[in-house]
Amino acid sequence: MDRYDRQQRIAGGTDLDRDWQRLRVLLVGCGGVGTILAQTLVRSGIGFLTVLDGDRVRVTDLHRQVLYRQEDADAGRAKVLVANRELQRIGGRTRLKMIPEMLTPTNAEAHFLAHDVVMDATDHIAARTLIDQTAMQTGIGWIHSGAIADRWVAASFLPPGTPCYHCWVAESPAPGAIGTCETDGVLPVACLAAASAAIRLLLQQIRPVPLAEVPHHRQRPTTRTIVRGSIAEGETTAELAADPGCTRCGQRSHPTPSSVLGGAAVHLRKLCGSGSVETWLQLDFDQVESRLQMLNPAVRWHRSATAIRTEGPSGSLICYRDGRALLTGDHSETLQQAQQQLELWLGKDALWTR
Ligand SMILES: [Zn+2]
Repeated sequence: MDRYDRQQRIAGGTDLDRDWQRLRVLLVGCGGVGTILAQTLVRSGIGFLTVLDGDRVRVTDLHRQVLYRQEDADAGRAKVLVANRELQRIGGRTRLKMIPEMLTPTNAEAHFLAHDVVMDATDHIAARTLIDQTAMQTGIGWIHSGAIADRWVAASFLPPGTPCYHCWVAESPAPGAIGTCETDGVLPVACLAAASAAIRLLLQQIRPVPLAEVPHHRQRPTTRTIVRGSIAEGETTAELAADPGCTRCGQRSHPTPSSVLGGAAVHLRKLCGSGSVETWLQLDFDQVESRLQMLNPAVRWHRSATAIRTEGPSGSLICYRDGRALLTGDHSETLQQAQQQLELWLGKDALWTR
């Protein structure tokens, strides 16, 4: 019997499991929420999991951090080494990589580009800001999760072109202004709820979006989902829209110009925060893949569960499941250049017209 039989049996489960097995996840932080995420991702056979954490196990971690034991706290062992021991014991198909480091400005971009999605389970605002900035540069989406006291939160981000973390949390709070697990404590159930919400958001990212449901063109920046809750008040889900005054992603300075393609207007826009150009395709994943293959045998590309990506010395093309596509680097200097490059890679009829 297949180890993953019970998750393949649900409606659509075979496809979901195939995409799950393709997914490469970078988990930043292996604490209260991170250990639960790591354990669940490995048990469910995510394709590839990298865990990044520079901390050591402490005795006050043990009531909620599910991968660690008393002996690990007594010995002050590095979290990722202990996590590796426990996750290897679970077994299964997941390929694991453990890195006993923090995310830094020098290593962030390389780590991002080796994965399809980043899961943030840190409790540092500085790390989160770095994750958001790196997401904006690379076009790799990330999912934030956190828990404190009896409260939890999870949110998904896919900048550039969609709301960023600072559209939501406007300015970095002063040190001490926000409680920590040390000052306010944290319940294990809040960590479980945060991890559960984060995995729901991850599932949403790889659920195929039928093309018929994608709007023909989107003048408004896409919204992102935020889940938050507390034991006292229950859980709510809201859609986060871009803050027009956001100083990080600069949504306010984005006009939404269209250019003309054989008489039909196509939607292209320059994203100020990153310099990338965003557009919408009327191709599904399989079509994007076969066009790249057919029209550009020399172009190297990578298909994952969340995106198809080509990387070249002069820039990259990233196509997402919902039809959105981003061009970066030299290709995105002008809208005209971007349109020409897209036509070259994907064909003249690839862009949404209206
Ligand atoms: Zn923003």
